[in-house]
Amino acid sequence: MSTLRFFAIQETLNRKPVKIVEKKRRSELFGKNVYNKSTMQQTLTKDAFESVSNAIEKGTKIERSIADQIASSMKDWALGKGVTHYTHWFQPLTGATAEKHDAFFETIGEGDAIEKFGGGQLVQQEPDASSFPNGGIRNTFEARGYTAWDPTSPAFIYGTTLCIPTVFVAYTGEALDYKTPLLRALQAVDGAAVAVCKYFDKNVKKVNASLGWEQEYFLIDSALVSSRPDILLTGRTLLGHASAKGQQLDDHYFGTIPNRAMSYMRDLETECMLLGIPVKTRHNEVAPNQFELAPIYEEANLAVDHNALLMDVMDKVAERHNFKVLFHEKPFAGINGSGKHNNWSLSTDTGVNLLSPGKTPMSNLQFLTFFVNTIKAVNDNEELLRAAIASASNDHRLGANEAPPAIMSVFIGKQLTKVLNELENVTSGKLSPEEKTDLKLNVVGKIPEILLDNTDRNRTSPFAFTGNKFEFRAVGSKANCANPMTLLNSIVAKQLMAFKTEVDALIEKKDMKKDDAVFNVLREYIKKSKTILFEGNGYGEAWEKEAKKRGLSNNKTTPGALEVKISKKAKAIYEELGVMNAVEVEARYEIEMEDYIMRIQIEGRVLGDIARNHIVPTAIKYQNILIENAKGLKEIYGETEFKKVAKAQLDLIEEISSHIVTINDSVTKMTNMRKKANSIEDVTSKAKAYCDKVKPLFDDIRYHCDKLELLVDDELWPLTKYRELLFTK
Ligand code: ADP
Ligand code: MG
Repeated sequence: MSTLRFFAIQETLNRKPVKIVEKKRRSELFGKNVYNKSTMQQTLTKDAFESVSNAIEKGTKIERSIADQIASSMKDWALGKGVTHYTHWFQPLTGATAEKHDAFFETIGEGDAIEKFGGGQLVQQEPDASSFPNGGIRNTFEARGYTAWDPTSPAFIYGTTLCIPTVFVAYTGEALDYKTPLLRALQAVDGAAVAVCKYFDKNVKKVNASLGWEQEYFLIDSALVSSRPDILLTGRTLLGHASAKGQQLDDHYFGTIPNRAMSYMRDLETECMLLGIPVKTRHNEVAPNQFELAPIYEEANLAVDHNALLMDVMDKVAERHNFKVLFHEKPFAGINGSGKHNNWSLSTDTGVNLLSPGKTPMSNLQFLTFFVNTIKAVNDNEELLRAAIASASNDHRLGANEAPPAIMSVFIGKQLTKVLNELENVTSGKLSPEEKTDLKLNVVGKIPEILLDNTDRNRTSPFAFTGNKFEFRAVGSKANCANPMTLLNSIVAKQLMAFKTEVDALIEKKDMKKDDAVFNVLREYIKKSKTILFEGNGYGEAWEKEAKKRGLSNNKTTPGALEVKISKKAKAIYEELGVMNAVEVEARYEIEMEDYIMRIQIEGRVLGDIARNHIVPTAIKYQNILIENAKGLKEIYGETEFKKVAKAQLDLIEEISSHIVTINDSVTKMTNMRKKANSIEDVTSKAKAYCDKVKPLFDDIRYHCDKLELLVDDELWPLTKYRELLFTK
């Protein structure tokens, strides 16, 4: 066994769980390190508090003098908690969060210093934008960018730093981060949904999108990870033969959480409490060493920030426990991958979940309106939804018969299917009083009851209605939720605007009553959205065929999926809603394609290195031992007898050679293909070359390396094996 592999296993076996003592109740810890509303109320003047509240609720601007007051209170609060630095915390398009710390400390005159933090520093900063992905925006415009305070997401303390959530934009105004378009999309859906709510309740003034993510991840000992260059550099294993025992026995899901993992989770949860991240659920997932963490849902912008922050905190806490968190969607071949279900709904400032059936027929008509409009939005934009979750790592998961397929469809359950079928048959034009009464009593009025016993939950659907929310299940575990959330809220906003226009037209031009108009438009929407509704097994081959007939897209790879992002249609949606302009859309497309290219490129290099510099030399070493042995046998038994006695050795020598030859050829071929791909200018063609020409060679190389793993003496094998990665505790 290589020394690295030996020590990694040894070290892992010797680990003890870190002792965690929870001295306080979680409710007492919750939000302690957050400059939230109640802290603001306690520390701000009445004027300042009102100003922030209005900024949060109505998006109004905060006066500079008020910003100074807020900054000063925020600083005092933070200093009281031992904080020394502050940072604008943002989410550039790298997928990681970014921060640059500045001390509060400033010198005044000779030898004296004070702690200073003014409104200017709170509101705006200028980090150098040139080292963050910008998709060409930097070349076309100015290199500089700035971060600006987002008061809707409260400042928090992490370690000894006060973190202020901010947007990150170019000097020319283009968004360079995930948050900016998300905020714009949330504003769009708010406006559009409020307008539709007015049909049912004049008091509604604001609609918030909610998000509850479910974060899946693997926890692997850090020593084991260090012994695997592929996990270290790419987040996943690029080779490794399957372990004899994997997840076949289904003995991990919801099983007892292992001690070390449990102590990690408790430590993590305490940190989350302090940061105001309302984590609630933890459990083992399907694969060995795979787990899930889910919070109580929150307003979408805050939930997105909390998920991004959580992923950071998970990494940091893991260090204390000698773990490495794997967020990759597919760290191990043949073993369950990780996703991040995005549970989504819309709710009003009057406390109504618009995707939850209500108590009266009227509120149910409102529910049906939002329900059907969401389905229609997904129906009309399924390709964009697929594109919003595309990444090199998520490609391993989608369509791999364990996670949602690359085909988008909506599952609503038997009962609601029946309701939609009945609504589809309502009379065109004005409804008779009898028909309306019947609809209200027997169809719309029955919804809450039927939902109560709605127990069918189709786990194979990428977009499922689950009683009071839609669950977008195809999102990757590594993804920033802002991407799918921006898209989903945008297409729903656009759809609701179209709905309002149509209903208003019927009321004005056809002299219809409001209910009649709503029923009429919904009926047409139901007819038009049939394509996307699917209740069957989403993993089956039959669905692939059926979906093709229906004209649904099935983009299995990222370069294929991303192309619609720069379609006329996509640009028009974002532009109309003011979410992104054409330059921003194009820039994002380029960044995501580049990201794909670079990830496949890195994987190719790492795989080539491991195959040539670790696997092949090991195989040769073992082959030499066999050769020595065969020579010895020949000496003892002589030319003819020896061929019988040494048959196994001779066969092995030959088999090893044939694998070595193929590996060597494939690595050479892969390197050449990479060189060819690298010479391509156009980002789309380049990504496609990496996808179609470079990536398929990974499988060839891996196949033969994994075969060698089965042949070569375990003592010599350099890489920590699957069984060791997954089962050493
Ligand atoms: P599972 O999908 O594993 O069965 P649940 O359905 O209980 O789990 O909830 C999953 C997530 O959905 C949780 O994070 C929860 O907070 C969130 N959730 C529940 N209701 C809503 C809602 N109305 N809007 C958004 N998210 C919600
Ligand atoms: Mg779920």
